[in-house]
Amino acid sequence: MSLVNPMEFIKKAQQKGIGIASFNVHNLETVQAVIEGAEAEKCPVIIQTTPGTLNHAGIEYISAIVRAAAEKCSVPVALHVDHCKSFETIIQCIRNGYTSVMIDTAHLPYDENIAMVKKVVEIAHCVGIAVEGELGRIGGTEDDLSVDERTATFTVPAEAKDFVDRTDIDMLAIAIGTAHGEYKGEPRLDFERLSAIREAVDCPLILHGASGIPDYQIKESLRRGISKINIATELKIPMAYAIKKCFEEKPNENDPRNYMGSAKNAVREVVRRKIRLCGGTNFADEL
Ligand SMILES: [Zn+2]
Repeated sequence: MSLVNPMEFIKKAQQKGIGIASFNVHNLETVQAVIEGAEAEKCPVIIQTTPGTLNHAGIEYISAIVRAAAEKCSVPVALHVDHCKSFETIIQCIRNGYTSVMIDTAHLPYDENIAMVKKVVEIAHCVGIAVEGELGRIGGTEDDLSVDERTATFTVPAEAKDFVDRTDIDMLAIAIGTAHGEYKGEPRLDFERLSAIREAVDCPLILHGASGIPDYQIKESLRRGISKINIATELKIPMAYAIKKCFEEKPNENDPRNYMGSAKNAVREVVRRKIRLCGGTNFADEL
């Protein structure tokens, strides 16, 4: 089927209390791995690219790969741009078939953040595209985006309500103690805060930096109202490991179909495990 707006399935996921695992991809093999994993688990999926990946792969190339994959796929697929700070890039994504966009202007003063998000919402909603906004600052590093622990701030529930009401966003990314990249110790999420935000707003809530969060904390997040879980680092690590292992075993390997093939298999297994963790197995049957 063709790419769909993720609200077609994420609202139902929210009602059911399950999560939609959303995966950051970088190239052909990672797209294939996510699609194959989602099909095997019979679960709709969100494929995401950061602006850094758009620079690396080219927006026309990566969107064409995801579109072709979605058309052959038996489960609904949405294409989303993650952490986009540029209005111009958002418009280019919409033109290239993205069905969902994240405008990340959480670094701006509150009223300026609202003004920019509102502008994106007005345009995106005219053409049936979903919009994710962020309130609070999620720490850590993702591509060229880096937020140190000092400037990372948690989402304030009352502010979240005001932000959603004034911008009319479809999904809200919240900061409750997760970080992008690898964790040094075990992260401790602020579940009380999550529950308070869930009480305050109706739209689906999103957990960024979910790689490396222990399974029991992911389950608790879902129980308390998270509907989308973003996974990036946890795909990169097994991918790199599989490629390294391939060259350790066969130092003269030079066929990309072999070393990238083993990487693809490793990524697909993580995709399946994360979908199962989020309770998404067989969810496509209910749509
Ligand atoms: Zn993020």
